[in-house]
Amino acid sequence: MAVSVDVEALIAAAGPRAGAAGREYVARGSVSGLTSVDGGVRACVAEIQGGRTHVFVSVVSRALVVDCDRDSEAGGQPCEHAVAAVLAARDAGISWTSMAVPCGAEPAVAEDRLVTAAATSLTRAELVRLIVTQAAEDRLFEARVLHRAGRLGPADEAELARLRELVRHAGRIPDSGEHWELHELLDAGRELLTELEIVAVRPASAEFVGVVEDAIGVWDKLAGYLLDAWDADDAEPGTVGDALAALHLRLCEELRPGPVELGQRLAALVGSTDLDSCLDAPDSYVDLLGAEGLTAYDAALHR
Ligand SMILES: [Zn+2]
Repeated sequence: MAVSVDVEALIAAAGPRAGAAGREYVARGSVSGLTSVDGGVRACVAEIQGGRTHVFVSVVSRALVVDCDRDSEAGGQPCEHAVAAVLAARDAGISWTSMAVPCGAEPAVAEDRLVTAAATSLTRAELVRLIVTQAAEDRLFEARVLHRAGRLGPADEAELARLRELVRHAGRIPDSGEHWELHELLDAGRELLTELEIVAVRPASAEFVGVVEDAIGVWDKLAGYLLDAWDADDAEPGTVGDALAALHLRLCEELRPGPVELGQRLAALVGSTDLDSCLDAPDSYVDLLGAEGLTAYDAALHR
C-alpha cells in the first residue's frame, strides 16, 4: 500500500537540531544513492567532517522506522540522516509502502539471536568479506544482496529466454524418446524452481509471470508421471508444485494484474492442466480477483 510520509511531523519528532542538520545535508547536496527498495528508502549521506553514513527508512504500521549506521542506538527519535533521506525522497517523488513488520525484523529464533549477536560484533569490513564470499557460493543470496542495494532491474530478454529454454527442456524429458528415469523429472523440476526463485528476487514483470505459468504447466505434466509411480503419501512431487504456486501468487500480489485478466489467466492455467493444478485457484487469489475477477474466472473456466 502506497502511503505518504508526513515530512513535517517527522522533522518535529526528530527535534530542532536533527531537523536543521537534515535540511542542511539536503541543501548541500550531501544525499546520494537514493534507492527505493522493499518498501523503504535507502540513502548515503556525506558527512561535513568527512565519511559517509548509510541510512534506511521504512514505514511500518504508518510509523517511521529508521535504520542508521551511525545512530543505531538513537532510541526511537529519527536522526538527521533519516530527516535528510526523507526530504530527499520527497524531492525525488518516491512513494512509500507501509509494511506490517519491518523488513528483516521477523521475530528471531534462538539461533538467529546467536548469529545476530555474533554479526553485531564484527567490523564492517569483516561483514562485507563474509557477504562477498557467501554470494560467490549462493546465487540466491547474491541476488538478494544486489536487490537490497537496489541494483537489480526486472529480468531482461536474455534472462527470460534462458528460463524459457529451461522450461522447454524440462517439458521435453518424457517425450524425448530416449530412456529417462523418474528422478530426472524431479531434478529438472527442482532446478527450474531454483532458477525461477533467483530471478524472482528481481522486480516482477508480466513477462516473468508468463514464464512461471509455463513452468507450472510443465510441472503439472512431470508431476503426473511422478505421482503415478510415487507412493501417494510421498510429499516430494508436491513440494516443487507448492513452491511454484506460492511463487505465482507472490508475483501476482506484487504486480496486481487487472482482475478480469487475472481471472482469465488462472482459468486458462487450471483448465489446461491434466491433474489438479498446483495453484490454489481461485481461493488464494480472492483478494486480487474481487467479484469481477471471480466472475471472469468462472466464465472462462466453464466456457
Ligand atoms: Zn543517523
